Amino acid sequence: MSETEEGDAVDPGDLTDEEWRERLSEEEYRVLRESGTEAKFSGEYVDHHPDDGEYRCRACGTLLFDAETKYESGCGWPAFYAAEEESVTTTVDTSHGMRRTEVRCANCDSHLGHVFDDGPEPTGKRFCINSVAMEYDEE
Ligand SMILES: [Zn+2]
Repeated sequence: MSETEEGDAVDPGDLTDEEWRERLSEEEYRVLRESGTEAKFSGEYVDHHPDDGEYRCRACGTLLFDAETKYESGCGWPAFYAAEEESVTTTVDTSHGMRRTEVRCANCDSHLGHVFDDGPEPTGKRFCINSVAMEYDEE
């Protein structure tokens, strides 16, 4: 991996489980590394609707979502109708007796949330993402 300007960008392959625990708070670790879910309407970004800026992966700093794609879904978690291309990966998740599509950071493979097909135009997608999995960046 090449040198980067961003101090918090990491090569996730280099981190041990113990190092992840050191980098992240208990709640962040539970969500990002153990595929947990923050309590509904509890997240700091649920009612956060800046005019611009972006949301980055809290674990590795990768740009995930543009604030322009954030919308009020009423579901209790931050929702976006689009993700930055190639920043996230999706896989089918059949845990908890449901069939959902899990969203992970493509760089560090941390769990972010799920994506559903009931979002608004132009994509029809609803990326339902945990606040603790992201960090808002005004730039
Ligand atoms: Zn990441």
